[in-house]
Amino acid sequence: MTKSTSSAAIKTANSVLKDKVAIVTGASSGIGEATAAALACAGAKVSLMARREDRLSALCESIEKEGFEKPIYFASDVAKPADIERAVKGTVEKFGRIDILINNAGVMYLGPVEGANIDDWKRMFDINVLGLMNCTHAVLPHMIKSSTGHIVNVSSVSGKVVSARSAAYSATKFAVGAFSEGLRQEVSSKGVRVTVIQPGAVATELTDHITDAATQKSVKNWVAGMRALSSEDIANAIVYAVSQPPTVNVNEITIRPTDQTF
Ligand code: NDP
Repeated sequence: MTKSTSSAAIKTANSVLKDKVAIVTGASSGIGEATAAALACAGAKVSLMARREDRLSALCESIEKEGFEKPIYFASDVAKPADIERAVKGTVEKFGRIDILINNAGVMYLGPVEGANIDDWKRMFDINVLGLMNCTHAVLPHMIKSSTGHIVNVSSVSGKVVSARSAAYSATKFAVGAFSEGLRQEVSSKGVRVTVIQPGAVATELTDHITDAATQKSVKNWVAGMRALSSEDIANAIVYAVSQPPTVNVNEITIRPTDQTF
């Protein structure tokens, strides 16, 4: 766990999520890493998914070292349905249930439509949209069987507002919003809640993977020019949403840095 995402930074250990079992996708860095630590800090048993096994293993050790229940992890690619099935099955085998799914794994290949690498578009939809939908599909029977569950989908301000060079990324995040709203209407009567989180600029590794060099440079400059959010700011909002009483469904949280105007 990096210094910035230490669960110590989340501050207050408590047991508001005691006995809850949470899966976090994209837990190897940034928002997912901080959210996994925050959920453990609030008493949850946590199951981690991402591709970088070394990072997941280190996070499990770090959380245990801080005195919280050691998470389990599954080195997994959310673009591969077999990996998702293995992680969900393994989580139920280990912890007996799934109460919370944090659909956080994502990539952001920003850039102009003209001349875009269409493989980037496919990869973004495979991870940001189908990965999230397939994780939801895999956990839903377990939640419906126990008449309780909470699915948190990490979208973006780009899921509300579109700008030049974010057409394709925004398309994936608008899809997350549409899927989440339809899902909420279907499953709320079965005790399952759905929350969409829409962060603005958060200082993470996300911009490192932008493949269009000019866009990467300008986005990095834009983020560096403001007091960006930390991953813990988003983790705190997620813990707030999943800690509400079962009768309360926080549908949507948009969080921008104070310095971000659009
Ligand atoms: P990071 O790059 O730090 O984290 C992305 C996470 O997603 C990593 O853990 C990565 O793990 C995981 N991931 C990527 N591809 C896959 C895959 N195929 N299978 C499994 N896991 C995968 O960025 P953030 O923390 O910023 O991003 C998290 C989410 O927040 C994303 O959905 C992003 O769109 C959203 N968001 C971020 C904002 C920001 O400003 N940072 C703003 C708005 C939304 P690994 O590489 O090990 O697989």
